[in-house]
Amino acid sequence: MREYLKFYIDGQWVAPIEPKTADVVNPATEAVSGKISLGSVADVEKAVAAARKAFASWSQTSREQRLDILLAIQAEYHKRMGELGEAVIEEMGAPSALGNGFHVGLGAGHLAAAIDSLRTFQFEEQRGATLVVKEPIGVCALITPWNWPMNQTTVKIFPALATGCTMILKPPQLAPYSAHILAEILHTAGVPAGVFNMVQGSGAVIGTALSTHPEVDMVSFTGSETVGVEIAKNAAPTVKRVCQELGGKSAHIVLDDANLVANVAAATSGMMVNSGQTCSAGSRLLVPASRLDEAIAAARDAANGVTVGDPKGDFAMGPVVSKGQYNDIQRYIELGVSEGAQLVAGGPGRPEGLTKGFYVRPTVFVTTNDTTIAREEIFGPVLVIIAYDDIDHAIKIANDSPFGLAGYVVGADAAQCNAVARRMRTGWVSINGGFDFQAPFGGYKKSGNGREWGEFGFHEYLEIKSLLGFAPAQ
Ligand code: NAP
Ligand code: MG
Repeated sequence: MREYLKFYIDGQWVAPIEPKTADVVNPATEAVSGKISLGSVADVEKAVAAARKAFASWSQTSREQRLDILLAIQAEYHKRMGELGEAVIEEMGAPSALGNGFHVGLGAGHLAAAIDSLRTFQFEEQRGATLVVKEPIGVCALITPWNWPMNQTTVKIFPALATGCTMILKPPQLAPYSAHILAEILHTAGVPAGVFNMVQGSGAVIGTALSTHPEVDMVSFTGSETVGVEIAKNAAPTVKRVCQELGGKSAHIVLDDANLVANVAAATSGMMVNSGQTCSAGSRLLVPASRLDEAIAAARDAANGVTVGDPKGDFAMGPVVSKGQYNDIQRYIELGVSEGAQLVAGGPGRPEGLTKGFYVRPTVFVTTNDTTIAREEIFGPVLVIIAYDDIDHAIKIANDSPFGLAGYVVGADAAQCNAVARRMRTGWVSINGGFDFQAPFGGYKKSGNGREWGEFGFHEYLEIKSLLGFAPAQ
């Protein structure tokens, strides 16, 4: 049993002002795995005051001073990756290879990217007699979801530190353990008091207190559209910057010259990674209509081949994060059936043999782009296959979505892949499996308005100042 009952404020582990706790449930067993404290507005006040105080000195540190801290964090992070992996596995049910691998690896990747970017980032630019200076925006509230807990926290904390901001992290109640260990890492690495603070608790209380707080200069939020909108409204009266990384319903286009069977299989098993709880998942698989039958067979085989079970065992897929998430996904699967979509693999209920835990069957439907299961983000292991007639049709379907987060194109002709990728109205398109920690990540349309990852992620945390009549040094 983990008991993470203290918050990290002003360089110290402190008890909440009013004691109140919540159980954390292991999604694989449905048993309580530990306890966290739920903070109050008074805890937020303390954390914001600490961050405000620390901003005066942290914002004035040199690039080298901040690099030293990030390098110390990196050393400590690498020492504790095993513990972080175990925490992620326990809190959100990632299979151990994934939890110990990509989950913590993403954190390491964002840290390395922040270090690389900080070495060369241009904080100043002389343009004629004007000096344009990029300065830290101030005190930042970082509000994160449970689906890739290490990715979501690190992709915000490290650029905020690198640019000279101070911060308060509000981790998700469903996955609070890895954030707690990360706070320990920052403490051991010597992050100065008040620069990083963490308060656990509910979004409605802690998140609202941060979004409305006059001493918070920006909110970086990753999560659902509903909460993203709520935060923006709450932040409006104090005119703070709000960066939103929201949901997606991304198209994965298999072009007609691609190896269809291999690509459909990879796209299908890829959809099931992390139990489909990935904002950038390629959840709409677009295949040529002339080869739909082959695609269906390949997707069925791949989905049926995804093993589901105990995260501590050797399975490809674990449970989804919570009972609520399980119920939402079941509702979508039932809706798919009642909407008349063709069920190719999986379906309602738990996989055979599993009687406990929030396990969902890897599910594939064939449908059209106007159905609810093709339009709404399910955030579970559910793939929809949609047939297209020609490239223009594929692009039309891909772009006919309220979201615009990611896209995937696979094909043999690089020029054609590039042309298709250019026409997709999303913030991030992976061509034939491309992946890059320095590529800006964020959404068009209802997928949000921010850009994180690497050097581009620094801009969320910077103000731009013009110094006119600034004579360059002779
Ligand atoms: P969520 O319900 O929006 O929660 C995200 C965070 O916001 C949690 O820490 C939550 O606290 C907090 N929160 C809740 N209500 C709040 C309020 N009124 N004010 C301020 N904060 C509040 O999202 P989720 O269910 O955890 O995550 C799933 C969603 O995130 C999906 O839609 C997914 O696509 C999206 N997502 C997007 C990206 C991206 O980069 N674009 C990445 C990952 C996930 P609690 O602890 O109380 O829940
Ligand atoms: Mg939620």
